[in-house]
Amino acid sequence: MIPYGRQDITQGDIEAVVEALTSDFITQGPKITAFENALGAACGARHVVAMSSATAALHVAYMALGLGPGDTVWTTPNTFVATSNAALYCGADVDFVDIDAATYNLCLDQLEAKLAQADKAGKLPKIVTPVHFAGQSCDMKRLGALRDKYGFKLVEDASHAIGGSYDGAPVGNCAYSDITIFSFHPVKIITTAEGGVATTNDDALADKMFMLRSHGITRDPAFMQGPSDGPWYYQQVALGYNYRITDLQAALGLSQIGRLSQYIDARHAHREIYDRELAHLPITLPYQAPYQRSGLHLYPILVNADAPVSRAEAFDKLRELGIGVNVLYIPVYLQPYYKALGFEAGYCPNSEDYYNRMITIPMYAQLTRDDQQTVIEALEKTFT
Ligand SMILES: *Cc1c(COP(=O)(O)O)cnc(C)c1O
Repeated sequence: MIPYGRQDITQGDIEAVVEALTSDFITQGPKITAFENALGAACGARHVVAMSSATAALHVAYMALGLGPGDTVWTTPNTFVATSNAALYCGADVDFVDIDAATYNLCLDQLEAKLAQADKAGKLPKIVTPVHFAGQSCDMKRLGALRDKYGFKLVEDASHAIGGSYDGAPVGNCAYSDITIFSFHPVKIITTAEGGVATTNDDALADKMFMLRSHGITRDPAFMQGPSDGPWYYQQVALGYNYRITDLQAALGLSQIGRLSQYIDARHAHREIYDRELAHLPITLPYQAPYQRSGLHLYPILVNADAPVSRAEAFDKLRELGIGVNVLYIPVYLQPYYKALGFEAGYCPNSEDYYNRMITIPMYAQLTRDDQQTVIEALEKTFT
């Protein structure tokens, strides 16, 4: 089976992890800061807070922004459940804004209309979390202008988008947002096995996130209430979690970052071949907005109405032919847990139409030309 996504682990990665494993520090050692610094340099952010997953990073980001009961987070339904679950962890409510039919990202026209309505009703969201789906950045200037107008906080879920850029600058630089989240799950662009980060340019938010990832504990007298008892002393000043990443994982991430731009170039080379070789089939290929260069985590195709097979038939046929296709995402609000919160089918029609037609096909840096040809031939067999 040719998978839809796959990590690349080199001999250098293995040596980096072994070196960390045989060092004095295997959990909270120097590799974590080195990894954070390298990521900050790669994406142009002042602070990087590494954590055990992107889910943890989303939770800590929302907490640091003061999210709590009575507040609402708005996001896209075309995402992994973690984006909105993290808001529920804080006791907040979640609402969804439908996607744009071309980019599959949160639709900014609909967001703008919904914000105007919510403003009149006095029910503005505390946080809006756009997701850069498949690695394609949302239009951040426009989102930033809406944030300034309505006073919400902006968290980018860029789990798909590391190595991508918006308006010529790297995703993650938080030029128009408060915090950006990346995931390093093995199916994403670079990996730490499990792991994620939050990036920010805001010193106070960074301090809070560093504290929250480790129990809400500080050893810095500047953050303590009253005087320190001595050099051994620490204080718990907030209710945090153990969301720390390990030195082993950070060593892997640090080794992988060196290949980030090479990975993105390889993904674009694969995209160009797919764009050219699949253009004649009755499927819709992923649009690339001109204001960004995608991280290309995914290559989603949509089955057109005039195709000879349904999406379900195409999925089965492709799996039969050894292609590890997948379907991403089931609109979050259609999950039973969210339906129990009151959401109903039909709430975001573009997301549902997208979900009913989409298949994601193999896209990863080390996809060989032969394997890609096998994928192309399987798609031709399926759709002609
Ligand atoms: C993968 C993913 C997450 C969660 O990442 P983890 O590191 O597995 O917690 C969150 N949001 C999106 C959009 C993702 O793709």
